[in-house]
Parts: sequence; structure tokens; C-alpha cells
Amino acid sequence: MTEDLVRELELLREFGFTHLDISGGQAILPVRKPTDKIVCLPLDEHRTIVMACEKCRLSKSRTQVVYGVGNPSADLMFIGEAPGRDEDIQGEPFVGRAGQLLTDIIKAMKLSRDDVYIANVIKCRPPENRNPEPDELDECRPYIRQQVEIIQPKVIVTLGRFALQSLTEKAFAISSVRGQWLDYNGVKVMPTYHPAYLLRNPAAKKEVWADMKKVIAELGLDPTPR
Ligand code: URA
Repeated sequence: MTEDLVRELELLREFGFTHLDISGGQAILPVRKPTDKIVCLPLDEHRTIVMACEKCRLSKSRTQVVYGVGNPSADLMFIGEAPGRDEDIQGEPFVGRAGQLLTDIIKAMKLSRDDVYIANVIKCRPPENRNPEPDELDECRPYIRQQVEIIQPKVIVTLGRFALQSLTEKAFAISSVRGQWLDYNGVKVMPTYHPAYLLRNPAAKKEVWADMKKVIAELGLDPTPR
């Protein structure tokens, strides 16, 4: 019983929690910066922890945490930036206009949203859809890294600059690395444009499709588009 409690508290601390409310009072745990230390946790338990996150200011303005959806043992993971208005309301990533386009891309790969896993590097909507702040990206980064560690995809497709830069913590320019295989802790990463960019620049869709064909080949999927 005590051992279980200690393990639970250790786990919370690993996830960056520094305070614990106990029936109105407040028990203070030693402060420790959120780490990327990987814990072997089922995805639903990880989800429970992330859903309660209050590490940054975005927790104050969000409707709900947008954790991620799809197959918990997917070979292919799409990683985007942050929830927008629709995602904040529905609690699911990529359900707005950009999301519809992502769904079309996934279907063109002869997959469904249930075959892949979709998540963002930022779990709560930035107000007015502003860009995430560096400290918000830092606070949230452990969560996406832990999701990758739990899901263990064979391929990650990063959508846009923030997804790529925040996952890898490297200042890649999307225009120079798009379409090239990168490595993140032994997982192949294909950086491509964000679907919201494609809505503004439909001509870039052909480049994204060229990138997806590389993913299709890597995963041995049927390359004929639907
Ligand atoms: N844009 C993103 O990057 N993520 C979403 O979930 C929706 C739009």
C-alpha cells in the first residue's frame, strides 16, 4: 500500500507535478523540473496524467487538454503543433479544416485515422491560435516524447516547423529539411508542411504527397492513391 503510494507520487513528480492537493490542504512535493525520463506506462495511464496538467498558462485558458487519438501501437504517428478552436472544443487533434485535409492525406495513403496515431507537441490551445511560447513548448515537450516512447512508431511525420523543432529540440528550417529522413532516437522522422499551410498554399500539396510516398515505401504500404 505504502509502496504503491510512493510509486504513484514518484510518477507524478517525474511528470513535473510539484504540488498535491489533499482534501483542501496542500502537500508540497520537492520541486523538480519536468524531465524526459521515460516511464513504461500504458498510454491510458499516461493520458490520465497529461489530462490533469497545469504546468503552464495554457491550462488556464483551455477548454480541455487535447491528448491524442488513434492506434496506441501505430507504426505511423503524425505530430502537429497545437489544438485550434475546434480541437479545444472537441478534445481531439486535427478535427477542423486543417484536420480534414490531414484526414484526406491519411486516406490517400490507404489508411484511416484509426490506423495511425495523431498528437500535437502542445496539448492545450494557445489563445487566439497564437504561436506557442518557448516556455510552453518546454513544459509540454516531455509529453509528446513520452507518447512516442510508449507508442514506438516506426515512422513519425512532423507537420510544420513547431512540431519538428519541438520534438527534436533542434532549429531545423522546414524549407531545407522537408522531405528528407531525419532521426529521432532511432525513429525515422519525415518532416513535411503543416496542413494549415497547404490550405493557404494548395500548390505545395504535391510536395507533401511526395513526402508521403516516401513514408508509404518505408512502411511497405500500397502506394496506389485512393
Ligand atoms: N493544427 C495542429 O497543429 N494541430 C491540431 O490539432 C489542429 C490544427
